[in-house]
Amino acid sequence: MNHQDRVTLVTGANKGIGLEVARQLGKAGHRILLGARDAGRGQAAEATLRGEGIDVRFVPLDLGDEASLTRAAADIEANEGRIDVLINNAGVALEGDGNVASANLDAVKRVFDTNYFGTVAATQALLPLVKKSAAGRVINVSSRLGSITYNADPAWEFAAVKLLGYNASKAALNMFSVILADEVRNDGITVHVACPGYTATDLNGNSGSQTLEEGAEEIVRLASTANPAPTASFTGREGPAPW
Ligand code: NAP
Repeated sequence: MNHQDRVTLVTGANKGIGLEVARQLGKAGHRILLGARDAGRGQAAEATLRGEGIDVRFVPLDLGDEASLTRAAADIEANEGRIDVLINNAGVALEGDGNVASANLDAVKRVFDTNYFGTVAATQALLPLVKKSAAGRVINVSSRLGSITYNADPAWEFAAVKLLGYNASKAALNMFSVILADEVRNDGITVHVACPGYTATDLNGNSGSQTLEEGAEEIVRLASTANPAPTASFTGREGPAPW
């Protein structure tokens, strides 16, 4: 694959796994569109990556603000004209989420607003640009916590983590990905779902056991390898994951 010509948009790329993915793909030669909802944080991350020699441009993009999604699409249309790889990375885990007995329903809804509805809205706004790529790819950053199969197994290593908002929003994102994959099959676009693995970031108070480099690994592989997996795949560093 010729990385020099790849235009790659990463949402939520001002920190954490998104920033590391942007860095690695930028170093591989992709033109990076660095999506971030806050101008100060987005510009700071853009400056950091530019200082590392990466071809990067900050694109203001808030999953919860439809107008910002429309503006981002118009901006990219005018400047790059297409997106080759759309990486839907932005996501949240919120205080108040929990199991059936303990979850605050407002927190559950707010998690869904970003992780599910926000990702769907961003994809709807940006998909016309992915369709302009000769070989478009959409990579949705999900989690093994969104696997219904794993959640149903009491012996699974993360079986104790039962979050009505977070886990269900990622399961819904998985379904969205499969529906999207079917819809864009004839446009030459493949859709992949990546689970980064438990990675030390602000999302989990830096409790994750993996480094950012390890967390970025599967997303980078899906974005930069020829035929990394069939469309509608769900994979992590350790290989295919069960839905
Ligand atoms: P993080 O460090 O908290 O980064 C999350 C990013 O998403 C930040 O850039 C954040 O921006 C952005 N974001 C949140 N809401 C947004 C919105 N409405 N619009 C635009 N951007 C928004 O977390 P992370 O661990 O790197 O998470 C990245 C992805 O990996 C998420 O989808 C997460 O669910 C997934 N994941 C993480 C782990 C893990 O162990 N860390 C495991 C499995 C899956 P601000 O800085 O402005 O808040």
